[in-house]
Amino acid sequence: MNSEPEYIDVHAHVNFEDFDTDREELILNTLNQNTWMINVGTNLETSRQVLDLAKKYKYGVYAIVGLHPTEVGTERFDEEEFEKLVADPKVVAIGECGIDVFRIEDQVEKERLLKIQEEDFKKQIDIAVKYDKPIMIHARESYGEILRILDDSLRVHGVKLRGNAHFFVGTIEEAKAFLDRGFTVSFTGVITFAKQYEELVKYVPLDMILSETDCPFVAPVPYRGQRNQPLYVREVVSRIAVLKGLDEEVVKKALISNAKRQFSL
Ligand SMILES: [Zn+2]
Repeated sequence: MNSEPEYIDVHAHVNFEDFDTDREELILNTLNQNTWMINVGTNLETSRQVLDLAKKYKYGVYAIVGLHPTEVGTERFDEEEFEKLVADPKVVAIGECGIDVFRIEDQVEKERLLKIQEEDFKKQIDIAVKYDKPIMIHARESYGEILRILDDSLRVHGVKLRGNAHFFVGTIEEAKAFLDRGFTVSFTGVITFAKQYEELVKYVPLDMILSETDCPFVAPVPYRGQRNQPLYVREVVSRIAVLKGLDEEVVKKALISNAKRQFSL
């Protein structure tokens, strides 16, 4: 293991059951190949899991705790319980939090659920600011909504509110809006096979990009259809280098330094 990684996957879910049979082995193998990971909670239970996992390793495995917007139908953000986790130094951000319009199937419930999503998103923003940690934003068909909420909060909190827009698949204009507010964006394996993001990747300045897998979902080329894992983040990094026409070593170094800056690693 090396204390200076070559790659960092800033958004993984190695706590999910897809990894039940080989989790420890997979993490050790990942660390041995100089790749770090940040596992992201989606509710209180999975947030506890990712923190427990992070605590097992001296370095290289970190946690983000929070409530995913699609969970608000069954669980509300419990400030008291989450605050017990947030203070831990292995917790490097709050999330994944945000707004998800796409996955609300019940049109009758839509308005009510969106209102709750917004309330719980704001609560998580407040906790992040209180503990001086960034937020990991989940957005689905909701960049406009999220930017509106961020602007409300930025007026109150100023630059103390910071974070990253995860799995970024917005337009160049939407990317610019996040960048203008000081937020980074992270790309997944989607950029290795979906041509429509080429201009977007070229547009975002190298010092504002983070790399992620969102594993076990969306494996990059050449692993399409397989279980994704943090090691595959190198395919994302290599694609960013190709699209930007930059030396891969330069991109690797920049993305490490960006992740370290964003999450105070
Ligand atoms: Zn995720």
